[in-house]
Amino acid sequence: MTTPSDKALVPFVSVDHMMKLIHHIGIEQMLCGIADAIEADFRRWELFDKTPRVASHSDVGVIELMPTSDGDVYGFKYVNGHPDNTRDGLQTVTAFGLLSDVATGYPVLLSEMTILTALRTAATSALVARVLAPKNAKTMAMIGNGAQSEFQSLAMKAIVGITEVRLYDTDPAATLKCAANLAGHGLDVVVCKTAEEAMLGAQIITTCTADKQYATILTDNMIGAGVHINAIGGDCPGKTELAPAILHRAGIFVEYPEQTRIEGEIQQLDPDHPVTEFWQVLAGQAAGRTDDKQITLFDSVGFAIEDFSALRYVRDQIAGTQFFHPLDLLADPDDPRDLFGMVQRAKT
Ligand code: NAD
Repeated sequence: MTTPSDKALVPFVSVDHMMKLIHHIGIEQMLCGIADAIEADFRRWELFDKTPRVASHSDVGVIELMPTSDGDVYGFKYVNGHPDNTRDGLQTVTAFGLLSDVATGYPVLLSEMTILTALRTAATSALVARVLAPKNAKTMAMIGNGAQSEFQSLAMKAIVGITEVRLYDTDPAATLKCAANLAGHGLDVVVCKTAEEAMLGAQIITTCTADKQYATILTDNMIGAGVHINAIGGDCPGKTELAPAILHRAGIFVEYPEQTRIEGEIQQLDPDHPVTEFWQVLAGQAAGRTDDKQITLFDSVGFAIEDFSALRYVRDQIAGTQFFHPLDLLADPDDPRDLFGMVQRAKT
């Protein structure tokens, strides 16, 4: 029996560890920390390797790989999207991810990312809304009250300062679940019977539904001047949430246009329809909201750099804690060229 050296043991953050880490740090603090990490990485956007994610589609969903590197560290996420999964008691979105040292190619972190994806998606939404939403936005409509919804609500509270969230879902059980989960978190929670009712008085409208079709969660007449739309659920070819007319009235902000034009709401527009890359707003290279009446739209699809930032944050946070297992993931023969000998010796 060989004992792997420390350099061959990869820290593995399980689902259980991730939940303990969240409680150790505090969920709102963690959302703020991840948003800070994403903002820092968006500010150095140009030095990252970037590519639209590699997607394998089927009739019922998609499985995707999302790689990136900043030259020192490489990361990727495996993620699926299967809208009908919840019917069978399965999650719509599950994920895990990895960071590696570019210098050696050795993995330095393996982590669950189903929960971390919900955190990073919410942190990104709130980071964008902090910059683009009307100043002093206090109320958010949350349309689609599934797995992402509480994370979205708490990130908007912690990072943007909203005080009220108005919930609507076609399935009332999802809304009741979300309302119950948000109780005691310092938000006024209003349960609504229609999307229109949820949007009353809201300066931020989040759509976070799951349906593999060109859905119309928001129609043009529902959207008044000056609101910020945080469109999360349209993130796949053939899967959108907004009526095209809304897109023609809005200033559209995206993560990585090459990916968003395939997957986002803007797949419904001409390929040269103007959009703004959000990182450029942060870097002072492009304008954000131009006036009080402008409708701003964050056409979120989720980009690899956000996962990289979230993994980097987790790696820093687990150092010196118990919130990981050292995983025997890499073969580590004493003589690097004697891999076969190591296998043979294991027989005894
Ligand atoms: P989920 O299945 O847990 O929840 C989706 C909810 O939407 C369900 O409660 C469903 O009843 C509701 N819904 C469906 N149609 C509706 C409608 N017409 N009006 C109101 N509610 C409706 O899914 P989830 O994990 O919360 O994810 C939601 C969506 O966000 C998915 O489409 C997912 O692919 C997407 N997502 C995007 C990102 C990103 O970075 N942009 C990240 C994670 C998830």
